[in-house]
Amino acid sequence: MKEIKQKIIGYEVVKAIEASQPESAAGSVPSNVVHMHENVERPEILLGSTYKIKTPLSDHALYITINDIVLNEGTEYEQRRPFEIFINSKNMENFQWVLALTRVISAVFRKGGDATFLVEEMKAVFDPKGGYFKKGGKFMPSLVAEIGDVLENHMKFIGMIKTAPDEHQRAFIEKKKQELGLKKSEPGSEGAVSAQSAPAPVAEDASSSFPPGASLCLKCHTKAVIYMDNCMTCLNCGDSKCG
Ligand SMILES: [Zn+2]
Repeated sequence: MKEIKQKIIGYEVVKAIEASQPESAAGSVPSNVVHMHENVERPEILLGSTYKIKTPLSDHALYITINDIVLNEGTEYEQRRPFEIFINSKNMENFQWVLALTRVISAVFRKGGDATFLVEEMKAVFDPKGGYFKKGGKFMPSLVAEIGDVLENHMKFIGMIKTAPDEHQRAFIEKKKQELGLKKSEPGSEGAVSAQSAPAPVAEDASSSFPPGASLCLKCHTKAVIYMDNCMTCLNCGDSKCG
């Protein structure tokens, strides 16, 4: 502890906002703009989204709730950032690990900075017992990866992760699908999850509109790669390898 040798003649509380470093390097952002950091207090009410996932690993569904905080509301710097995550299930088998994971993720959210790296880390976890395919042909290497997938959808939904493919690529995919006489993909079906209605359906029943013989795309982990025009082309993300 610091010893006070002089008489206290006044004091002021250091504002957490001023003490922290902004998360972006943009120089023109005014100093009163709040960025996510560990001293941002939790408001009484947070916006929440609950995602339901059903895996072949368990008879019981898993409910993932991500609560967001809205910073700088009503200003041009308004941003919605995840604040905490909870996972619920009737299946308590992995309870302590799931609880530990949610606490660590929540802590990372509240630290601020770019939390999108969590998605890649989690999606790279492979279950030694082998993964599974979801409806629609998407391969999940593990339950952790699936939780990462939900987090990615959520981050896309709140605008933290920009959604690919771009306009040009989307048009290309639609054209190719039309040529093959396949269903049109729903506009905005990707990651479009309602914020208020809980529990909301997730990617699970998204596009099962790929040809039955399609192979697995290594980029988007969807069984949507077909051979056409001398190229292996993914009808989901547009990834294409020729020759
Ligand atoms: Zn793909």
